[in-house]
Amino acid sequence: MNNSMKIHALHNCSRRRFLISGAIVTAGISVLPRRLFAGRESPVITMRAAAATAKIRIQRLRRNITVLEGSGGNMAVLTGNDGKLLVDAGITASRPGIMEALNSLSSDPVRHLINTHWHFDHTDGNEWLHSIGAEITAHENTRKHLSETTRVEPWNFTFPPAPKGALPTSVFARDRKLQLNGTSIALDYYGPAHTDSDISISFTEADVLHVGDTWWNGYFPFIDYNTGGSINGMISAAEANLAKTTSKTIVIPGHGPVGDRTGLTEFRDMLIAVRDKVAALKQQGKALQEVIAAKPTAEFDAKWGGFVIDGKTFTHLVYAGV
Ligand SMILES: [Zn+2]
Repeated sequence: MNNSMKIHALHNCSRRRFLISGAIVTAGISVLPRRLFAGRESPVITMRAAAATAKIRIQRLRRNITVLEGSGGNMAVLTGNDGKLLVDAGITASRPGIMEALNSLSSDPVRHLINTHWHFDHTDGNEWLHSIGAEITAHENTRKHLSETTRVEPWNFTFPPAPKGALPTSVFARDRKLQLNGTSIALDYYGPAHTDSDISISFTEADVLHVGDTWWNGYFPFIDYNTGGSINGMISAAEANLAKTTSKTIVIPGHGPVGDRTGLTEFRDMLIAVRDKVAALKQQGKALQEVIAAKPTAEFDAKWGGFVIDGKTFTHLVYAGV
């Protein structure tokens, strides 16, 4: 992620109040950031283009589990005789780099792909991975969103229905257990969190947990209200992640470096602190621009504001949900 991909444009937020027949519409969706990338190219286009030259970094974790970082969200790879299992698909333009990285791990063919949620930076590569033999498992809402025309307003982007080959071949509502490559794998739905399609993937024996975009390690997270996400859902997911881990668990975030329970705890505490500050200001009757001007993220900006979501944008995303 380079500087050109950072968000600066929240200056056109004239949507202070929504008055319809004298009633303030309080639904979070009505105060969504309309154009986080106002006057700029959609981050979807920017990230897809950048993926063509992205360097894929390989980080071995425990046992037969490796992380590939550099194309969209963090990908996990489980190698073995049952064929490689991937968690998340990266971005299509990175196919040569991802293939090279996969081939460097082992000669097993790719047989299984799990999507942590529906977002393009985790599913863009679904079609080519399916074309080389991967069955795709995901939450049922991932298939739903990929099957339909889906608008993400803050990204200023409308996704057309994905091609059939990109759609999950097996979906579930609550949980799913798999046994592959000598590993017990538990898939668990969070309920609405970053979207309404997020699942965790636990590799039991290795004690490695992939939590998708319910954790951005070291960064304010994006929250997708257009497909069911909310700040309170993010906090619930952070609590669920803490309940699934010990001090020994290796935790793979959707974005940012591989981390652990300490990092998850800091993230949960930051989410709650910002949510409580923004909620208190909103309850005093302050409009969005007044809340942003009060800088409720000030103490967190230096540590958490260095990726795609800065403090203003995160305030906006939290305000929409309190
Ligand atoms: Zn996401």
